[in-house]
Amino acid sequence: MPKIYERSEKMGKLNDGKNKKVRKYTDAKTTANKQSAGFQIASLDLPKGVNSFYFKKEGMYYLDVLPYTAGKNNPMADEGYDHWERTYWAHRGVGAENKQYCCLLKNWGENCPICEHRQELERRGASEDVIKALWPKKRQIMAIIDVEDKDKGIQILEGPYAFGLGSLIDNKIDAAREGSPVTRFYHADGGMTLAVKCKSEGFKLKDGGSGKFLKPVNLEMEPRETNYEDKDVPCLDDLLKKPDYKKLKEVFHKGADEDDDDGDTVDEVEATTPVPTNNETEVEFEVGEKVKHSKYGVCTVLEIKNGKLKLKDKDGDTHRAIDPSEVSTYTPEPEKKPEIQNLSKPKRSAVTDDEEE
Ligand SMILES: [Zn+2]
Repeated sequence: MPKIYERSEKMGKLNDGKNKKVRKYTDAKTTANKQSAGFQIASLDLPKGVNSFYFKKEGMYYLDVLPYTAGKNNPMADEGYDHWERTYWAHRGVGAENKQYCCLLKNWGENCPICEHRQELERRGASEDVIKALWPKKRQIMAIIDVEDKDKGIQILEGPYAFGLGSLIDNKIDAAREGSPVTRFYHADGGMTLAVKCKSEGFKLKDGGSGKFLKPVNLEMEPRETNYEDKDVPCLDDLLKKPDYKKLKEVFHKGADEDDDDGDTVDEVEATTPVPTNNETEVEFEVGEKVKHSKYGVCTVLEIKNGKLKLKDKDGDTHRAIDPSEVSTYTPEPEKKPEIQNLSKPKRSAVTDDEEE
C-alpha cells in the first residue's frame, strides 16, 4: 500500500495558508517493487512470491548464487546433487507477441512444432538465416540473492548462456586451479559473491527498429561470509513451463497469442527483453566447442570476447583474436542425412546455442 504523507503546517504556510491540500504521495519503493514483480519470463513458471531478477542499468551488481538440488533429467547435474544453474533451450520471438517458449524437443525429447517447421524448411532448402532463427537457443536459470537488495530474498535470473552470466562463470571456473574457492562459488556455506559488471549494448529488432540491452561483460568473485544453509531454494528443473504442442503450433503458425491467462504483465517482459534479428554480431561457436581452423587445424574454443575467438590447438598453443570467419564447425564424422530422431542432438550446435541478446 502506498504510504500517505500529509503536508506539514510549515509547508502550508509557504502556500499562504490557503488551499491547504493534503497530498497523497505514492511510495517510490513500492512502485519499483511492483514493476519488478510484474516482470515475468514467458518460458518459466516461478513459485509464488519469487521474483525474477534482471539487470536494470549499467554498473556493478553483487550476486550470491545459491545451490539447488537437481531433479531428474537435468542436462548438467545428476539427480540429488547440488548444482548452481539450469540449462535449457527456448525458441525466441515466437508468434505475434514475440514470446519465448521452451523447446519440447531439446528439453523433453518430444515433438516440437517449431523444430518440425525448421526441418521442413531445411528440406526445402530455405536460407540459413531463416533456419537459424528457428533453432532453440541455449539459456540458463539461476537462483540468486542480490547482496545490495537482500530484502527481496531469492530471485530467479534467466538469460542467454553464450552472452550471459553463465559463460562468464564458466570462463572463471576454467581458469581456476583445482580446489580453488572459485569452483565452490555457489556453495551455501563458504561460497563467493559474484561482482558482475553490466554494460549497455545495442541490438536490432526484427521490424528494423533498434534498442539497447544490458549485458554482463566482466565477472570477479569475492569471498563471502554469509551462510545460506537455511535457505529453501526452489528446484530450478521444476520452473520450466512445458508448452502444449497444439497450442504452441497454433501460436507459431498463426502468429496469435497462446491464451490470455498470462495477463498483461507478460507484454511488459517482451518489451524489456526484445528479440534481436539474426544479427551480424552473432558468433556461431561456443566455449569448449571443437572447430577447424585453416592454419591451426582442429582447435578448442577457450573464450569468446568481443566477437573474436581464443583457440587452443592440438599442441596446446593458444591463438587469440581469431575471427569466427576463419574457422568452421568441426564434424568428426561425415554428415548423415538429417533424420527427425537426430535432432535432439543437432550437429550444428553452434547455431543452436549461440545468440546475442
Ligand atoms: Zn523446438
